[in-house]
Amino acid sequence: MAWVEINTSSIEHNARFLLKLATESGVKIAGVTKVVCGDPIIADKILKVGFQEIGESRLENVKRMKRAALQPKFLLLRLPDKSRYGEVVDLVDSLLISELGPLETLNSLAKEKQKQVEFIYMVDTGDLREGVMYYEASEELEKAVKIAGNNLKGIGTNLGCFGGVVATPGKFEVLLDIGERLKRKTGVEIEKYSAGNTASLTLLERDTLPAGINHYRIGEALMCGTDVTNNRKVPSTVQDTFTLHGEIIELKTKPSVPIGDTGYDAFGRRPTFEERGVRNRAILDLGEQDIPPSGLKPLLEGCEVIHASSDHLIVDITDFDGGLTVGDSLPFRMSYGALLRVMTSPYIVKEYV
Ligand SMILES: *Cc1c(COP(=O)(O)O)cnc(C)c1O
Repeated sequence: MAWVEINTSSIEHNARFLLKLATESGVKIAGVTKVVCGDPIIADKILKVGFQEIGESRLENVKRMKRAALQPKFLLLRLPDKSRYGEVVDLVDSLLISELGPLETLNSLAKEKQKQVEFIYMVDTGDLREGVMYYEASEELEKAVKIAGNNLKGIGTNLGCFGGVVATPGKFEVLLDIGERLKRKTGVEIEKYSAGNTASLTLLERDTLPAGINHYRIGEALMCGTDVTNNRKVPSTVQDTFTLHGEIIELKTKPSVPIGDTGYDAFGRRPTFEERGVRNRAILDLGEQDIPPSGLKPLLEGCEVIHASSDHLIVDITDFDGGLTVGDSLPFRMSYGALLRVMTSPYIVKEYV
């Protein structure tokens, strides 16, 4: 059986640490649960620690948590398609937005439904994912104020996701300046400066966060204890939050280089092989459908992930010092990207410990 062991007390540990770190700087955090598909058991643990807001990118996940009777504030991190704007208004308390058309539609819908929805307009400070470019932001934000008035509660930015741009105080000062200018022009005061994700935790840790930034949205550090943008473990967090287990379904000795003329693999990739003699190779009951093989780190020393096709994960166990047989399981630590796919795979059993 392929299964993921979810260590909820380790997630709680990370939640507690991050909450304390942020609170010391007067910053509120939304706990981002998209990587675990809004898993209600995990979300519940985070809320019990003291988080009051959950950040989600999918309405399905918000619904899943609401069905489990969880009642935090919900922040939607990304718009769905326009046919679902009604659901957005019904389901969430605030959302990140970066287009004026949808802002207008959603704001009118909220009025119609007499539902309070707060908007946080996204500004691109250089990472080049979502948001209006910072040097064009003032004009667009003035229009956003005309549309949404006081429902435009915040402006935000996101770093480290597309361009891998790291957070610096300067990036956040850009956001604060834009807010100041907007206030001078329109009289509308921005209450929420939602600046950070995991890639921006360094500013809290080093106490270099510009005054005024008061909101973070944290997923990776909470769930994995890592910060992939800065290529590090986040100090004082733990990483044993999730462990993937795959079962050995074949164990044989094979050459390290294929025999015959080679073309492309099942995914159109051109594999390369190093001559390492005859190796002990295990096939596990996992595949590309469940994991990106490069995101798995075997926890048993001497095991090495070689490759995966749709449903076969090949692990070289030659250098492992111990007995393994068919039916045994191998444990792995996962990258954020691997965890995302594992939690999304219906084939992998989820077990909470
Ligand atoms: C996913 C996401 C986050 C959380 O990012 P982490 O790097 O996982 O902390 C924050 N903001 C937005 C807009 C996101 O989409």
